[in-house]
This record gives sequence, C-alpha cells and structure tokens, in this order.
Amino acid sequence: MFVYLNGRIIPSHQAVISIFDHGFLYGDGVYETIRVLDGFPFLLDEHLLRLAQSARALRLGIPVPFPDIKKVIQTLIRKNHFPEASIRITLTRGPGPYGFDPRPCRNPTLAISCSSFVGYPASYYRRGITAALVGVKRNHPLSLPPSVKSTSCLNGILAKIESIDLGAQEAIMSTLDDRIAEGTVSNVFAVKKNRIFTPVLGKDLLPGVTRDFVCRLARSLGLEVVEKELSINDLKTSKEIFLTSTLMNILPVTKLVWVANRKIKSIKMGVGMGPVTRILAVCFEKAARAGKWYNSPLKKF
Ligand code: PLP
Repeated sequence: MFVYLNGRIIPSHQAVISIFDHGFLYGDGVYETIRVLDGFPFLLDEHLLRLAQSARALRLGIPVPFPDIKKVIQTLIRKNHFPEASIRITLTRGPGPYGFDPRPCRNPTLAISCSSFVGYPASYYRRGITAALVGVKRNHPLSLPPSVKSTSCLNGILAKIESIDLGAQEAIMSTLDDRIAEGTVSNVFAVKKNRIFTPVLGKDLLPGVTRDFVCRLARSLGLEVVEKELSINDLKTSKEIFLTSTLMNILPVTKLVWVANRKIKSIKMGVGMGPVTRILAVCFEKAARAGKWYNSPLKKF
C-alpha cells in the first residue's frame, strides 16, 4: 500500500516517524477520516474545512495547501486501486524535545493513508446495534473541546471500554450536566412521532460531517429535523435511534444499556431499522454515490 508522509508518496512499510513526535508522545495532533465511494472522496471539502478548524484550535499550521492535499488523495486512490476506501489524514506537531511546549516543534508531521474500506458488519445494519449510555462524560469544552477532532482520543477510549463491558457496540456519552453529547465515533439521532431529533451543535460535540449531510438530506426529503438539547430520557423514550459517522453512514441502534444502582438495565427499541431510519439510509446511499469530487452530492438533487 502506498501512503503519503511529509512530501513523499512511499510504500507504507517505509513510512516511519520519530519517536519524539509530539503526536506520539502527547497526542498533540488532529485527524480526519474520509470515505471514498466509487473512487471519489465523499464530502472532502467539508472534512478539510474541519481539519483546518481543528488545527487552528491547536495553533497547528497545515504545511501543505489543500489543493495539493487533494492531489495527493487522488494519487493515493489511483495508485492503491481502492475504489472503496477510507482516507486518513493525520497532522501532528512533529518531533521536538520532551515537554508540552509546542514552539520547538518546527516540522509538523503530515501523513495520509488510503486503506481498502472495511465497514461495520452487515448484521449491525440488519439487526441494529446495542449502545451503552456510559458513565464516562464527554470532555468539557473548556478542557479539551469536543469540536476539535484531535488525536487525543482517551475520552472516547474510556467510554468505549465501558461500553464493551456492557456488551454494547458503541457508547453514547453525555455532558457533565447530563445532556446527550455524542457517541465515541458517531453523532446521535432519535426519532419520535416522525420527527428527527439530534443534539444541537454547540461546544459539546464534534460537528459531524455525516450529521450535517443527514440533516440536509432529511430536510430535502421533507422530514422535520429538530436540533435541540436532548436528555437521556429523550433517548430512552424514542421510537428509533440511529448513529452517523463517516465509516458507519447511518447505523440503527435497537437496544440501549446502562448501569443504575449497580444493576445493568436495558431497553429494546425494535428489531432492525425503523421506518424513518430506513428511508434515510436508502436515500443516503443513493445521494452519496451520486456525488463527484468536490461537490456536495446534495447540489445534484
Ligand atoms: N463524534 C466523534 C467523537 C467522532 O470521532 C466522529 C467521527 O469519527 C463523529 C462524531 C462523526 O463524525 P463524521 O460524521 O464527520 O465522521
């Protein structure tokens, strides 16, 4: 497999970075994951925009202009012969002396890989997954802002571990004051009386590129989307729940689990995709595959 590292496209086994890279030492970096559908990177501009916002929040310069990054991505897709792929862009502070001071790190590391797409198992889409309402809280925006897609993922990893202990496939985290925030790698939607609810974009969650696409898609289909604060009870009383992410697209949740008074509790929401989730999932696939390079596919409706 060919990858890009700091200006060169090379076989992946030759791609090595310094053990003094602050991304490796301290999680000082940002990243993006992009789906490639039929050879086209889906919503690439949206992902690059978020990369820029994340990097700016960490005062991390992007060493290569976006048109050149797009060319690299195009080359990697072609050279690796992966029409269905996932692209990962990782930008770190680069090598420097020990210590958090970013100033001595003068050469950021930029790595881009293009791997054959391995999605979630088909059974997850057929039967739905179990999501755990975990005790681990989403980072407070004044500590590490969830709106920054940083390589410091320990918050999500701790939540994921808790969800694994509960037999769930994803964890849903709430804020310190118990509002629903997001999954470890996904945004959360709930359906009630044919209205689609999702936590409002504030500072508590990552502005998911797929979340935004699904909101626009649903509205273009005449469905009502309400972005508002959601309580844990709002989720528990929903008819349908689904998660969105670049690698999931739209994934139904059919069971919620949580711990209360040291006992494991659960609710089953149904078997398989609910009707609203299904409409969105089918239209998502069609709309996404209708897209070309840098155009939002919705412009093609
Ligand atoms: N929330 C978090 C914490 C994530 O890490 C991700 C993606 O990895 C998402 C939401 C979904 O974002 P997107 O749709 O842009 O992939």
